[in-house]
Amino acid sequence: MRQKLAAGNWKMNGTGAALSEISTLAALTPAPKSEILICPPSPLIHRAADISAASAIQIGGQDCHAAHAGAHTGDVSAEMLLDAGARYVILGHSERRTDYGETDAVVRDKTEAAIDAGLTAIVCVGETLDQREGGATLDIIAGQLAGSVPAGVTGETLVIAYEPVWAIGTGLVPSLGQIGEVHDFMREKLEARFGAEIGDAIRLLYGGSVKGSNAANIFAVSNVDGALVGGASLKAADFAPIIQALD
Ligand code: PGA
Repeated sequence: MRQKLAAGNWKMNGTGAALSEISTLAALTPAPKSEILICPPSPLIHRAADISAASAIQIGGQDCHAAHAGAHTGDVSAEMLLDAGARYVILGHSERRTDYGETDAVVRDKTEAAIDAGLTAIVCVGETLDQREGGATLDIIAGQLAGSVPAGVTGETLVIAYEPVWAIGTGLVPSLGQIGEVHDFMREKLEARFGAEIGDAIRLLYGGSVKGSNAANIFAVSNVDGALVGGASLKAADFAPIIQALD
């Protein structure tokens, strides 16, 4: 059985004052059956890890460099995230693919570096609205999965997040049928590439405008093992109902 995962992506939001949301969330979800993850901005990771240490909440990063160390001004390595208390890292989010031109090859190299360092990588894939309207969704997903996921992954080291670009931060959500189609397709692709056992163990998250009011319906879709949540993860009072819907 795949353990369900509710992951919050704070993006570039929050200073030290926001850390109280983590203790509030821990108090609202004292004994979760699902895994809970918060990915705050890098400067907050260390403090977030200290605050969450006594709770079930885990901490992750939102990106890392593909190199382990060196002359890369402004970048953060996977080892640094781990050392700061992170256990996960989000990679290949569509905002990084768009803002920094991250290609599948870059995302794959970062994923390898993250797994090498001992982190679990959450690799994001997803089509734009044009691609969906052009009937290219499954081809895009297949290409991103093949290009962004390195060899040798397992259910412990890799999570995939399906995030349609047009659903992120827009309030638009695909139909449950559309989500199920992509998640079933991703499961088939992962099983074909990594074998039934590993392919079946990799968790598949849905992301894009998940909130308390739509979470239960989304979580009932086959092969949806949790969510990657942006806006609704910033406040404990918004994130807790999503976790409860998953449990
Ligand atoms: P959203 O963002 O929940 O605010 O749509 C999701 C994401 O980008 O991970």
